[in-house]
Amino acid sequence: MAETITDAVSRRRTFAIIAHPDAGKTTLTEKLLLFGGAIQLAGEVKAKKDKIQTRSDWMKIERERGISVVTSVMTFEYGGNVFNLLDTPGHEDFADDTYRTLSAVDSAVMVVDAARGIEPRTLKLFEVCRMRDIPIITFVNKMDREARNTYEILDEIEQKLALDTAPITWPIGQGKSFAGTYHLAENAVRRGDSEEERTKVNGPDSNWAAGLLPQNEREQFIEETDLAREACRPFDLQSYREGHLTPVFFGSALRNYGVRDLIEALGEWAPAPRAQEADSRTVEATEEKMTSFVFKIQANMDPNHRDRIAFVRVCSGTLQRGMKAKLVRTGKAVPLTAPQFFFARSRSTADEAYPGDVVGIPNHGTLRIGDTLTEGEDIVFRGVPNFAAEILRRVRLGDPMKAKKLREALQQMAEEGVVQLFTPEDGSPAIVGVVGALQLDVLKERLSIEYGLPVDFEVARFSVCRWISAGSDADLDRFIETHRGDIARDLDGDPVFLAQHEFGLNYEAERWKAISFAAIKDYQ
Ligand code: GDP
Repeated sequence: MAETITDAVSRRRTFAIIAHPDAGKTTLTEKLLLFGGAIQLAGEVKAKKDKIQTRSDWMKIERERGISVVTSVMTFEYGGNVFNLLDTPGHEDFADDTYRTLSAVDSAVMVVDAARGIEPRTLKLFEVCRMRDIPIITFVNKMDREARNTYEILDEIEQKLALDTAPITWPIGQGKSFAGTYHLAENAVRRGDSEEERTKVNGPDSNWAAGLLPQNEREQFIEETDLAREACRPFDLQSYREGHLTPVFFGSALRNYGVRDLIEALGEWAPAPRAQEADSRTVEATEEKMTSFVFKIQANMDPNHRDRIAFVRVCSGTLQRGMKAKLVRTGKAVPLTAPQFFFARSRSTADEAYPGDVVGIPNHGTLRIGDTLTEGEDIVFRGVPNFAAEILRRVRLGDPMKAKKLREALQQMAEEGVVQLFTPEDGSPAIVGVVGALQLDVLKERLSIEYGLPVDFEVARFSVCRWISAGSDADLDRFIETHRGDIARDLDGDPVFLAQHEFGLNYEAERWKAISFAAIKDYQ
């Protein structure tokens, strides 16, 4: 029997893992899937991990069709909950893809290396989560290796992220003597995740806690846990949900310690699919009518079938196979004949998807990033961000006869989110913008393979771009008129100011107070 929408919503947890490379995201993902019953998967995520270092790595991985599709969304069940884990690309050059994915989750797990603490990428990803008030559970990984002092780790999270911490468990030892986790509030020990349940003990000094440690480490453990219970902040659900406080767990993904603590916390505390802001109203997840938005597009690498898969996150209602959805941007009906669920390795055809679920919709270019699909209502979800490109290049085409084809190809790549496309107002050739250099390699390779268009990139005289807007159209028009050579239009026709350098931008911003220069634009 199909479940009710309220039940489906309350069971679902849609989340992402944020981490600096090497902190253990892949290992933890594998273990979560393992505990969620997808046992055959352990090891597979690792093998397919997108550790992209060079263009050829990227192409190789992408050519083995579906790799990133396969690992894009992983669904597993545990303790009655349905978890949707949305993967984010490992390489920094694809950071904008990661940011977009974060717009489709309700919470995040932050993996921190116990020896390294908060690293730059963790910090950056955390900032994106904060912008969206995404609640975060922290998993301090690699406790089986030399780790920093536990207080020091908590302190660093508080200082660097300006985030309150509430340790839920405390590590029993570290490095070679790491023996398990101690639940501070419950006085219970879990030695490894092979144990189904925690063992209740009388206190940290019991045989099943301090007793697991070598003699010379027991005293310190007892003191630390006693102090933690007195001095550390208690967990507060509301504070966590609002993004002010992170519950902290310790463990070793590699050795299965602490993983079950984490998965249970996700089930118990992580928010169910949230209400979603649209332009004209807030959409509750439990509403009967289906609404969803596209946050990612995956191109099929087969040049003979230029189809794409649009990843949509269901926000409300039930997305059913065969239903006709309305694509609000164009007003046209999009038949959802073959929506796909991505369960771990295999894609299976979905009959129904609920709020929080992610479904793949094959299409031939109808759907773009940021698109809203509804059962008829004209609402647009806001919040899939577009970050100002940091590298700008003109595209030089070997064969000028193919200019029109290039235009179409660039338009498609931009719709997929591979690059940003800027059309200069003065009629000069298109400019592409990317956040990371590797994206240019991908663009070049794909234009060549999929469209038969060999291109080169020329350094444009611009290095900074900003979306411009003003309170009054007259102000904006005046600015555009006087800067025509430095204005381009993005994919949606919105005006963008291109500057030679940061200095030039600041200069103009100083002179034109009525104009706002935005580094982030939400897709509409
Ligand atoms: P990612 O880059 O964040 O996905 O990190 P990986 O999951 O690939 O882990 C990076 C390295 O750390 C790999 O060699 C893992 O085997 C290792 N690793 C991950 N978790 C642990 C852990 O809990 N303990 C130890 N000792 N090594 C770990």
